[in-house]
Amino acid sequence: MQFIKNLTQGFPAITGIRWFNLSVLVITPALSLYGLLYVHIFWNTVVCTTLYYIYSMLGYHRLWSHRSYNASFPLQVFLILAGASAVQGSCYWWSRRHRSHHRHTDTDLDPYNSERGLLWTHIGWIIFESDLKPGPADISDLRNDPLVQVAAPMVLYWKGGFFFVGALRMTACHHSTFCINSIAHYLGSTPYDDKHSPRDHLLSAILTMGEGYHNFHHQFPMDYRNAFRWYQYDPTKWFISVCHWIGLASHLRVFPSNEIEKGALTMKLKVLKDVQDSIEWPVPPHELPVVTWETFQEESKSRTLLLISGFIHDVSLFLDTHPGGPVLLTRNSGKDMTASFFGGVYAHSHAAHNLIGMMRVGILAGGVEAPAEHAIPPSQRLVIRANTSH
Ligand SMILES: [Zn+2]
Ligand SMILES: [Zn+2]
Repeated sequence: MQFIKNLTQGFPAITGIRWFNLSVLVITPALSLYGLLYVHIFWNTVVCTTLYYIYSMLGYHRLWSHRSYNASFPLQVFLILAGASAVQGSCYWWSRRHRSHHRHTDTDLDPYNSERGLLWTHIGWIIFESDLKPGPADISDLRNDPLVQVAAPMVLYWKGGFFFVGALRMTACHHSTFCINSIAHYLGSTPYDDKHSPRDHLLSAILTMGEGYHNFHHQFPMDYRNAFRWYQYDPTKWFISVCHWIGLASHLRVFPSNEIEKGALTMKLKVLKDVQDSIEWPVPPHELPVVTWETFQEESKSRTLLLISGFIHDVSLFLDTHPGGPVLLTRNSGKDMTASFFGGVYAHSHAAHNLIGMMRVGILAGGVEAPAEHAIPPSQRLVIRANTSH
């Protein structure tokens, strides 16, 4: 019970049920299950089901929702039949809602608002009527497109393939497409922008014929690609490219690579910034006390203080860990060890430079044994900081 409550927590107020959609979504998986249990599967049925599934999944999305390329009339007919064979409402109905989803992502004007939970975004919005209405989006091109206006959803069955080519393929198509709105807003990384919920993931790309690079798609929706990188799985992109080569599609839209890379770099830098912020850095020089040579000498008797490049370092807590042994440090307390540190005795590693930086406790005024004119008057003299690093 609690599980169902959690799943439906984000649901809006339900005002009705779309009985046709509900029936299709209940009957097709039931038939598929019956078929899987009781109907013999021939290899040619498997091939047909798979090919028909691939065809149905080519659907409306990139051409009619986003106009990401121009398609010749035969290709348009081919694709509108593909979309219709998936039985998910008309091209107009589907594309209109999808445009609202892009314009108003993660708000209640988005029909599959991710804030309302996985169950709502996956299937709830298509089964239930609610008080939420899709937000405004420009659909004038769809209204003026005669093909979009006349094509009604249609299904192609034949007797032997009823359970698989028909029902099972349709069930697979439904849930594959629904995954774009649920899983692709839930699972994966945000390589281009993390303001909203869309994410990139190979699994959702596999489930959706390449629509799973959804973070990219929401950033650059007019781009005919969903997978920007050549090695990413996007069969729909490959199909459009082939149509382009053979002259069936033209004006494939791509966002400038420079801007895409800029977005990707910005996100990488953001991740690096988080790493940077999680690391402790040396005390900045302006926060360190500037002390006299005399103070340095006096205090280096009670703790091990080394001068390197003008900074005074308290290495007392490091004596036992020093790879060169503690004596090298203790016997040089109060001395300028710059030359020794930078190779006079041993050329210290990058890690040693980082580590010594953490032991800074002061800056020496005027250098070693400063001339009288650089001396700080006793009233202005500071003491050396305590070493708080470990
Ligand atoms: Zn989306
Ligand atoms: Zn889209």
